[in-house]
Amino acid sequence: MAIDPKAADKLSKGWYKERLSSQDCKYLLEFTDHSSEANLAVSLANRLHHQACNGTGQISAEIETVIGPCPGNCGFCKHAEGRSMESFWEIDDGSLAKIAEGLGLFSDVRSIRLTTCAYADIDTVCRQVGIVRDNAKCGTRIYVNTRDLGPDDCRQLKAAGAYGAVHAPRLGEGKDTEIPLETRLDTMTNLVKSGLEVITGVEPIGPEHSIEDIVDNFFLTLNMGCASCELVPREPVPGTKFNQFGKLGQSRFNQIRAVLTLGSSWYTAPHRVPYAGAYVTGGNVVVPKCNLSNYKERIEASRRRLFNGGYDRILKVDDSTSELNMMYLRKTGSV
Ligand code: SF4
Repeated sequence: MAIDPKAADKLSKGWYKERLSSQDCKYLLEFTDHSSEANLAVSLANRLHHQACNGTGQISAEIETVIGPCPGNCGFCKHAEGRSMESFWEIDDGSLAKIAEGLGLFSDVRSIRLTTCAYADIDTVCRQVGIVRDNAKCGTRIYVNTRDLGPDDCRQLKAAGAYGAVHAPRLGEGKDTEIPLETRLDTMTNLVKSGLEVITGVEPIGPEHSIEDIVDNFFLTLNMGCASCELVPREPVPGTKFNQFGKLGQSRFNQIRAVLTLGSSWYTAPHRVPYAGAYVTGGNVVVPKCNLSNYKERIEASRRRLFNGGYDRILKVDDSTSELNMMYLRKTGSV
């Protein structure tokens, strides 16, 4: 069947890095995820991703450092205060130091993210950033994913050694969460102004979200000076009102990511680092959740995932790259 001519024009513009509007993206997402238009969008976006990172994948390890009943009370989250029966937990300094050191064994974990709940104490987060800085392989970039922050908090995190932050206005912010949308956006402005590299996102995407919900959320932050944007599907959590909707199908997720990749191909982010890839993160960045008992296997699986995804080089902590082949997988114990 012939490709819809209007869709072909918009896909072509995205491929040649011409600006697409939010209306263009919405139009492209009206096609089903198994349509020819969706298949072409995914194919073009994958090629853009591979070109933008020069076939180089990277690993960004995530470590949860503070978990507990969270006053953010997000309707989709298992840690929400109003739902969670869990007690407060904070990683001990020794375990954090061991993970940070262990992740550096082959110098191919390019960054480490420290994730907390919304009540985190910034002095504690800064101390944890310092522990990672002192124990991780030299050059490892440290990101924080924590509560909303004022300008002074951001400066404090940067002084402690943070390179960047993960922060986004979530879908349904202020309605399905107890955090006003403006607060999330203000934090992003504060982070950008402080010189921290910001990874934003469109999340958590569920099957019930409309095309408008998703595209408008993406365009809300596109011009805020962020370095990249990650799309995250929502995991069903029993006991939440969203559980009934289940999880977004992988092919629809791929189509959404592809259209937003093409829709932002014109955008040049500040602080772009070597081999970062397109603004919308694709399969080139793997983010394994790591703790003391699983980090080794998670990193090995991440190397295999990059290899299986067709990435033939892997980014090292010093921004050099190594060939990602069977020999490398064997050498790192990943196969
Ligand atoms: S702010 Fe984060 S940890 Fe807290 S309830 Fe919301 S999603 Fe969960």
